Formats: sequence, structure tokens, C-alpha cells
Amino acid sequence: MRVLLSFGAILIFGAALIAAQSGPTVPPPDPVPDITTLIGRLSLDRYKATIKGLTQFGDRRQGTERNRKAVDWIEAQLKSYGCTPERVKYTYTAPPPAAPGARPQAPRDPGAVERTQGGGRPRGNRTRTGVNTDPMRQPDEKLRALNSEPASDGPREEVFCTKVGSKFPNEMYIIGAHMDGHGWGEAANDDGSGTALVMELARIFSMPDVVTERTIRFALWNNEETGLNGARAYVEQRQALQGKEDPPGSGRYPEPKWLGMIQHDMMMFDHGAPRADGTVSPDQRPEADVNIEFQSTAKMAEGAMKLAFFFHGANERYATDYPAQVGPHMTNTDSTPFMDLVPAISLRENERGVHVGSGWDPHWHQPTDVFVTFSDRDFMLGLNAAQTTGGAVAELTGTTLKK
Ligand SMILES: [Zn+2]
Repeated sequence: MRVLLSFGAILIFGAALIAAQSGPTVPPPDPVPDITTLIGRLSLDRYKATIKGLTQFGDRRQGTERNRKAVDWIEAQLKSYGCTPERVKYTYTAPPPAAPGARPQAPRDPGAVERTQGGGRPRGNRTRTGVNTDPMRQPDEKLRALNSEPASDGPREEVFCTKVGSKFPNEMYIIGAHMDGHGWGEAANDDGSGTALVMELARIFSMPDVVTERTIRFALWNNEETGLNGARAYVEQRQALQGKEDPPGSGRYPEPKWLGMIQHDMMMFDHGAPRADGTVSPDQRPEADVNIEFQSTAKMAEGAMKLAFFFHGANERYATDYPAQVGPHMTNTDSTPFMDLVPAISLRENERGVHVGSGWDPHWHQPTDVFVTFSDRDFMLGLNAAQTTGGAVAELTGTTLKK
């Protein structure tokens, strides 16, 4: 045991050293005992309860009272975990609707390989996707009424909380998910599943015996569905504050230097491709996995790729049920505004462009994205992503438990 513990300490030191120098490279081969204990504090019941809590605010569409109430509720939960919340404020004005035919699509070269958003190549059966805007497709009258207030332009707020590093409070990893949704459901999977994941990690990292050498920030973005506006506002407002001690001599860093950004968006549903008739299996597929993506065209692609494979290793060390795979097509989520500035990755149930974009998740932006749609096998995939991110970030920030 003693040998194991000191070996664990060496691994943590090694991971921290690697992170400080050149980004993560060779992951340690074995789990670190303290981190295994910490990740064991996550549970399927708690994860489900947090998603359930989020669904009381319906689809949490930005620019509505139900969205503002959800921000307040998230903030209260973070506070109850001992993670002091702060808010980012910005204004959102919806762009005018494009006139029909205003942007004609260029004719596609019939010889070119088709690419989806993010750069992947779609294959196999594909179905239509889109955002439901018809309230009558929501059969639950109570939920339909809850979701009825339309979005209006104006001030917006989003919440984050921070675990301050003991040795390097001036450096941090950002863990994020978006709390807004749409489509006349409960946004249970998109993105209650990612929001609950980030909140659950905030809970366990805020426990009084947990020490991290580096800082971790837990961010619940708003306005993702309108074009990543909440994450963009964060980058615009805070990018230039990185690493500055304020006030000077205080040892406090309102915006530690960004070491990496990890986004979580749609975490639960990996039932495979549509069949020839357009239907999708009602069951989580046996080979379901967590998709870790970086974007190969990003300025920080090389660091992001290393970070992605570090997460792949952490999945093998700390995730109990489902494996992970790495791909180069990260797109359409809140890690995009970060990806040219800092290594940025996303974790998802499937690849966003090729899989989700081809109809692999029939509940995406639909009235059926409600809590009762999902089975424990689905929720468990989200929990495994939490174990993956929790384990990876614990190693990267040099996490130990006070004895
Ligand atoms: Zn989403």
C-alpha cells in the first residue's frame, strides 16, 4: 500500500510536470489511488437526480424566465457544494431572420467527398435532423405550458464556480457544458446531461479533503443554442485577464491562465446509426463509447490532440463501464471559441458532425428529449464521461486527498 501511495504521488507529480512543460504526453499506466477514491464519490443516482433537477425548468430556453430560474437553481446547487459561484453578464440580440434565398448554396462538385460540419465524412443510413418549433408535438400539456414563453432579446447571465489551486492558483483547466436548450422538451440530454456532469464534478472537487495544485473552473454556459454566445462572451470579457494577480500582492487570480478547455454536450445516447427504415434502436448499443474530439484545423490542434489522448488514457484508468475513442472533428459547441487560444476538446455520446448530424440521436432538439426517455444504460454513459473528465483533470491538476 505504501509503495502504491508513493508511486501515486510520483504519477501526480509527473502529470503536473508534463502539464506545466509541454502539455500531456504519456499518461500514467495505472490509476492514482487518491483519484480513484475521489471519482468513486460520483454515483449514478446523484447524476440522475441533478439531471432531474434541471428538467423542472423545461427546455431552459435562453431569454426566458425558465432559463433565468435554471441559472439561479444551478447557482444555489454550486453554493451548497461549497463552490462559490460567480456570474458572467452580457447582452444577446437575435439576428434578423435571413430572407428566403438570401444565401443560395453553392453547387457541390459531384466528384468531391462530402463532409459534414467539423470535417468528418458521413456514411451509411442518414435521417433528417432539425429543431422542433411546433408546441403541439409536445403531448405533455404541463410541459408545453412551461415551455411556452418565447425568447426575448436583452441581458443574459451565466454562472461558474472555481476550485482554487493550492500551489499554482494562477493556472487552470475549464470544464464546461451549456445549460440552455430548446425544442419543446426538457433538454435532458442536450444538455442537461453535460450540465449535471459539470455540477457533479464541482461537487466532488469541492469536498473539504480535496486539494488540487492547479485551479479548476466549472462553467455552465448560456446561449449555446443561439451560436455559442455565452462562451464567446466569457472569452471576450476574460481572455485578457489571464494570469493577472488582482489586487497585486493578494495571491488572487480572478482569471488564471487557461491550460485547457473541456466541453460536455449530449452525453447519454449512443444507440447506433439509423436503420434502413430510419428508426434507431431503443437500446444503448453494447459497444457504446464516449467520443472525445479535438478540431484538427484549430490553431492549438496539436496540444488539443495530446489532451484528447490524455483523456482517452484517463477513461481507461477511471471509467467503470464504457470506453472512449478520439476523433479530430470537434465542432458546434462551446469549446469552439477557445480552440485557437488554448487546447480545447469536447466529450459527447457520438461524433457531432458525422453521427449526431446523420440522425443517430432522434431526440436531439425534439419534444422527446425528456428525462423519462432515457434508461440507466444511457445515464451510465454520461456518468462514465464524468469519471473520464474527473480522472483526467484530477491528474492534470495534481489532486490529492487530505488524510
Ligand atoms: Zn448541445
